[in-house]
Amino acid sequence: MVCAVGLGVAGLLALGVGLPLAYAADGPNSGELLEGLGAEVGHRLDPRVAEVLPRIDGGGRRLLALRSYLRSSDRLAERWSWTQEQIAAYEGSPEHRELLGEIVKVREAFARESPGYDLWVNPQVRSLDRQLESWNTNESVTAAAQELSTTVDALVNSPSFPANDARDARKALEACLDGFRPTSIPTVAAPGLSPHGQMRAVDFQVHHGDQIVAGPRTATIATEWNAAGWAVKLDDAVRKASSRFITLDLSARKHATRTGR
Ligand SMILES: [Zn+2]
Repeated sequence: MVCAVGLGVAGLLALGVGLPLAYAADGPNSGELLEGLGAEVGHRLDPRVAEVLPRIDGGGRRLLALRSYLRSSDRLAERWSWTQEQIAAYEGSPEHRELLGEIVKVREAFARESPGYDLWVNPQVRSLDRQLESWNTNESVTAAAQELSTTVDALVNSPSFPANDARDARKALEACLDGFRPTSIPTVAAPGLSPHGQMRAVDFQVHHGDQIVAGPRTATIATEWNAAGWAVKLDDAVRKASSRFITLDLSARKHATRTGR
């Protein structure tokens, strides 16, 4: 996809007269320009976004995360993953006990329908550090980040990009990020935004003895979860046993979200 900037008269004039030398010679140094703009967008969104961006590897992944932050900007504060202190406070709380109780009910319902198979759940809150680690290494993120990099590079290097007007440049970048639709959809949430970061969701696995029959990897969902029928069985167990979970059909049924919290 292409992000274009309207070639307004003001933009043209500004490009003609006020262009910094470094940009005029050979087109803008888009890497540096983008880093500055990205940091500025993050800073305006939330201090936690500004803090997390430098911990993301590669400009493309940073832009892709920034896109998620922009698109969730009105819910950032409410959705942002818990700190270690908040995680510690949650563990052992009545809310946590209630969640564990719901999980037991779902596991029992599942085992009744599929004797010999066990539904396994990771009971841990997914910390920001772990979310960063998976964002920095996940292949679907890498692919989407490359695609976004190409799109944003084209924007910044286009003659109509208001490189010398910080405000217009930022707005053009924001519009581009907001409108970008990756062909490779990232299978993990941008760091800080995972529903697992506030235990709003849990991921299930199907075990048979010590063998993982349907696992957590998104790449195997089509074969392990859908074709083998485990997605439907998990969905059934969740519906029968718990009013506090719904299974998501997003990329996977393996992932259930809590309701009414
Ligand atoms: Zn999940």
